[in-house]
Amino acid sequence: MLFSQDIGIDLGTANTLVFVKGKGIVTREPSVVAVDVRSNPNRVVAVGIEAKEMIGRTPGSIIAVRPLKDGVIADFDITSDMLKEFIRRATSGSPFNRARVMICIPSGVTEVEKRAVHDAARSAGAKYVSLIDEPMAAAIGAGLPVSEATGSMVVDIGGGTTDIGVLTMNGIAQSASLKVAGAAFDEAIIRHLRRRYGLLIGTTVAEEIKMSIGCVTPRPEALTMTVKGRDLKNGLAREATLASEELMEVLRRPARQIMDKVLDVLESTTPELVADIARNGIVLTGGGSQLFGMDRLLCERTEMTCVVADDADSCAAYGCGKSLSWMNHMQEGTINLARRRLLKE
Ligand code: ADP
Ligand code: MG
Repeated sequence: MLFSQDIGIDLGTANTLVFVKGKGIVTREPSVVAVDVRSNPNRVVAVGIEAKEMIGRTPGSIIAVRPLKDGVIADFDITSDMLKEFIRRATSGSPFNRARVMICIPSGVTEVEKRAVHDAARSAGAKYVSLIDEPMAAAIGAGLPVSEATGSMVVDIGGGTTDIGVLTMNGIAQSASLKVAGAAFDEAIIRHLRRRYGLLIGTTVAEEIKMSIGCVTPRPEALTMTVKGRDLKNGLAREATLASEELMEVLRRPARQIMDKVLDVLESTTPELVADIARNGIVLTGGGSQLFGMDRLLCERTEMTCVVADDADSCAAYGCGKSLSWMNHMQEGTINLARRRLLKE
């Protein structure tokens, strides 16, 4: 007998995670595809880690793209090829023809794009496909009491987008999304090095700097890091030494934009739900929430308890996995309304 396979996919702007029921997270790869633009239609050369390593290193005809860069699907065909490849890797060897798939997508994605994601999963062999909004998946994965009559707030800081949601009784009471997240911090670092040191660096180095010495509140001990880049004037390789404190100034600007949006959402939330959130605290999820000091800065701004969820960058994928058990009752392909109705039962 064939077993139907249930999988949950967190199709993120930076990383795609695949959760297989009974196994946990089996694939975790960058949402990057390398394509050969000489061929028509463009041939996919590599997907995931292999493709990410090609960024900035490809010959003229091969380009590495992030198909979901800003939370919108830049290229349907490439996204669909990427999704199919990740599903294939996660299910290799096992029959996938009866699989049920729950996909979490950034909230900026339009209905047309949702349809495209849905169709891509279908053509990869999935029998039933449902989509779930990122704040909901992240909140479920972080273990928030989303089904209870109490307000929970989740701030998911991903690569391209930050998704903020107030959840109660299985619905989204209030939400907002902004295109300021992990990548915006990297860009701020790149700009700083160019202006202050006349040094050019790529996004991968900027990301390394952010993770090793970056912060938005002071670190207990000052850290420094020496980075290699290209001199803007003579084009030669040169080094500069950065301190965590100067990065704090640089990173606080994008961080403030996120904080302001959280305050906006709180302002448009009912006083009852705000009181619940004040009691329950705000939960941060997504890779970007791991930037040193994000929780403390948010706590200072909102005067509420803020915590980074355990396994913050896997919450949405776990949430997809957990919500698979509700799929039985769901109408295929229908998204918010059916889900909300169902989850209320
Ligand atoms: P998405 O859901 O959009 O794919 P993720 O939740 O996977 O995004 O988060 C990816 C982002 O998190 C990247 O911008 C990455 O640089 C950032 N990130 C991951 N770990 C850390 C860390 N320790 N400190 C700061 N940023 C981090
Ligand atoms: Mg995400």
